[in-house]
Order: sequence, then C-alpha cells, then structure tokens
Amino acid sequence: HSRFIKISEGCSNRCAYCIIPQLRGSHRSRPIGSILAEVKALAASGPLCELNIIGQDTTLYGTDIYGAPRLPRLLQRISRLGLTRWIRVLYAHPAHVSEELIDALAVLPGLCHYIDIPMQHSSDRILRRMGRKVTRRGMERIVEKLRARIPGIAIRTTFIVGLPGETERDFEGLLDFVRRLRFERLGAFAYSPEDGTRAVGMSGQVPANVKDRRLRRLLSAQRTVSRRLNSRLVGKELEVLVDEARRDGRRHIAIARTEQHAPEVDGEVIVERCRASPGEFIRVRVTGALDYDLTAVRIP
Ligand code: SF4
Repeated sequence: HSRFIKISEGCSNRCAYCIIPQLRGSHRSRPIGSILAEVKALAASGPLCELNIIGQDTTLYGTDIYGAPRLPRLLQRISRLGLTRWIRVLYAHPAHVSEELIDALAVLPGLCHYIDIPMQHSSDRILRRMGRKVTRRGMERIVEKLRARIPGIAIRTTFIVGLPGETERDFEGLLDFVRRLRFERLGAFAYSPEDGTRAVGMSGQVPANVKDRRLRRLLSAQRTVSRRLNSRLVGKELEVLVDEARRDGRRHIAIARTEQHAPEVDGEVIVERCRASPGEFIRVRVTGALDYDLTAVRIP
C-alpha cells in the first residue's frame, strides 16, 4: 500500500563526499508520461495508499529534458490522477527548493504536509567544502517559508558530522541550528571517506572518536527536540495509515503512521487494542509520546 517511485536517475550536484555521481552518472529525468504510466500501473496492481517520490535530487526534476525544474508540475499531474491518498516528496536539495514547490505542497490535493530536505550541515564554511551551493541563512529561510505557508508541516533533514576540516565551533553551530530550528525528523551520520571523492584528499581529517562523540551529541540533542514535539501531540486526534497488524498474545496492535511520518525512516504510531489491517486509514487519539514514536488508541 506504500510505494516508491523514482523520477530521475543519477546526480549532477557532485557533493565533495559523495560517490553517487560517479556510480550513477549525471542527472537524467524520466518523462512525465512514463512516470504517470507507472503510477497508473501501481494503482492497478494493488491498493495504493501512499506514493513516495524519490530521486537523488527530486528538486532538479525536469531540468535536463524540459529545460526548467518541473517537479511542481509533475506533482500536479500525479495529484490530478487521484489514484493515491498520500503523495510524499523525498530528497529535495535545499539549493533548489522553490516557491512553486512550496505552493504545490501547500495546495495540491494528496500532497503530504511533509518534506525531506537533506541539509548536511549548517556551517557556511563546511557547506562550501561539501559543495552544497546553499548557506545557513538560505536554509533557515526555506524552513521559515515552509512553516509559514504550511502550518503543521513536518520537515525531515539529515546531517553529516566530521567532514574533514569540521572544527568544534562548526559542530557547536550545528547543534545550535538543530535546537533552534527544531526539525520534526532528523537523521545523522558520521562522515565516512569514499574513494574517488574530493573529500578523501581534504586536509583536517577528523579522528573517529571525535566523529562518534559529535554524532552522539547531535542525536541526543534531536532526541530532546523530538520528544518535546511529540509531547505536544498527546490528546490530539490524527488520521493514520496502518502499515502492520501485530498480535501479542491476545493483544492486537496496529503499527501506523501519520502523513508527517515517512515509511522506514521516521517514527511510528503504535495503536493499542486495534485490529485494523495494513492499508487502512483510521482516526486515533494520541495517548503518549516516546522519543520518536507515539502511542494512540483508535477512535470509533
Ligand atoms: Fe547528489 Fe545527494 Fe550525492 Fe550530493 S549527496 S552528489 S545531491 S546524490
């Protein structure tokens, strides 16, 4: 009931730490017609509740074959098909998130109030070393615009700690960024050198123990943010999509997600005493907040 659709292959961004452009080649978009045909085929082959739009950089979609970014238009065409309840945009590069895309997320029927924007760091110096073509202020502005235009949106991001040259000051700045912007979802990784990338030859490699310590501190800061955000949802009514039905002795539990949770990477909503089946949309009341997950009961 939850499917992924790849709208492009390869990447032309050439971030200093990433091997994907060498492995997969430059960015190549699929024509809109081919993507729409796949959406129709997916809907015809079984229940389609959620469509997750992926590509190495979904925001660049269309630039190679249509001469301009066409993700908002593609979303409009998918939305118009009316074949899936949720449409979710993943892997949006912060340098290419446009007003038009924000409008599409805000108004198109079916578009989840959710976006995944891997930011990777907050220090302008490290962002330059990474080749990310974006600044801290630019990313703050995107977050401000998204939250102003789409109240309740969940923003997911990822960060890399320990890129060569990252100082304690850069890292403290990143912690401050994460605590101030309070991302609803966050993933973090310690930099790991990939042969063939520019970052391998950079000066100032960060020792493994320092990278690990920074990663733990970042994840701990996010745990606090996430639990606080989750605790505000206690008592609220939400619509969730059931992913899995579990049974623990005589207890039936449904594992579900709101539109603010992407599959596989974000937390889940654990619905107690619930016999709903995978693929069902149900209404629940939140009863408890864990670090990343919520507990809830079904509303009859
Ligand atoms: Fe492209 Fe993402 Fe790799 Fe950068 S990190 S080169 S945007 S795939």
